Amino acid sequence: MSVTTTQDRKPMIECRDVHKYYADYHALRGIDLTIREGEFFSLLGPSGCGKTTLLRTIAGFEDISSGVVLIDGQDMAGVPANRRPTNMVFQSYAIFPHLTVAENVGFGLRRDPRSSAEKAKAVEEALEMVGLKGYGKRAAHALSGGQRQRVALARALILKPKVLLLDEPLSALDRKMREQMQVELIKLQRQVGITFVLVTHDQEEALVMSDRIAVMFEGEIAQLDGPEALYARPASRRVADFIGVMNFLPAHVIEETAEGVRVETPGFGVVTIPQRNVSRSNPGDAGPMIGFRPEGVSLLAANQPATGRVTGGVIDEVVYYGDMTYYDVRLDGSARFDGVSRPVRISMRNVFGRDVPDVGTRTRISWSEGSLVLFR
Ligand code: ATP
Repeated sequence: MSVTTTQDRKPMIECRDVHKYYADYHALRGIDLTIREGEFFSLLGPSGCGKTTLLRTIAGFEDISSGVVLIDGQDMAGVPANRRPTNMVFQSYAIFPHLTVAENVGFGLRRDPRSSAEKAKAVEEALEMVGLKGYGKRAAHALSGGQRQRVALARALILKPKVLLLDEPLSALDRKMREQMQVELIKLQRQVGITFVLVTHDQEEALVMSDRIAVMFEGEIAQLDGPEALYARPASRRVADFIGVMNFLPAHVIEETAEGVRVETPGFGVVTIPQRNVSRSNPGDAGPMIGFRPEGVSLLAANQPATGRVTGGVIDEVVYYGDMTYYDVRLDGSARFDGVSRPVRISMRNVFGRDVPDVGTRTRISWSEGSLVLFR
């Protein structure tokens, strides 16, 4: 059986050394990326990092200052937005409240030469695709936020773009609705098979939905990877900090070997960090750091045998969340380098019927070298 991943597919969007200036403000600083056909791709970053600007340059709403943008192999220089094979869905829905749902969805077909019966059929199909079958005659203003977002999606999809560009499409929805729409968008994207490019500042949303994610800071791509690689092996401390929670401890590099880098770090002692977990990019930090995720190590119950290596510690803080608990733990020897004791955060799923240990309890942490990342 052959497995095709999106990696094997043809490039749909290519940006080569794309720069964008707004007067003398350098908003995009040399963007290089390739988004493949059928990929669900996200641009993720904090406010002002340039993700919307990048999306708008792909859409053709912004000119680029230098560089090349290709869509489906064609240079987009001088091609206006309405002649590009892209369609954009905005956060603010931009649906017409005085029209019906069907009129909104069919809006882009005004100049389509097909008969009105054929167009009505296309509208019905688009509505069915987004889970709004039978809603055509309703007034658009009477819809909920989630339903309006679906109408906006149907209106974009009916034009059969090669690329759908989504600018924070779910950010106006409440949490439950947003999570539901995330799953629906993934299903929809798989069903229609077109390339989706999503702009979001919500790291969880990007991790849940994307095949690959470009993390942007200040007009540059800091890392471009799949969700798991991004989460497990962030390329810099800044990316690690932006995506989820990561603990950091100072480290002294002892030597580099074929298997990895031997370091000494308070709390964990002397460890060899496997090469794949070594990140060379660590701008702005005082020195090498060890990083690990709260769920990357585990707290052992009193008589539980350890798998892997063990460090003792004392529980400093307990934050109970129902399904899981966060523990802040002072690892033994954690203040050894500089006298500064840094509690580390560890998360554990709660086991029904088992007590959550209290603050002040002595405990043991089970960990392995594979769950540690070195930033040098
Ligand atoms: P947000 O999530 O807040 O929308 P973003 O990452 O999408 O942020 P952009 O909207 O791309 O960021 O903006 C990037 C930078 O460019 C910001 O500093 C912004 O102020 C600036 N900028 C965006 N549009 C213009 C414009 N039309 N004229 C001048 N500066 C602009």
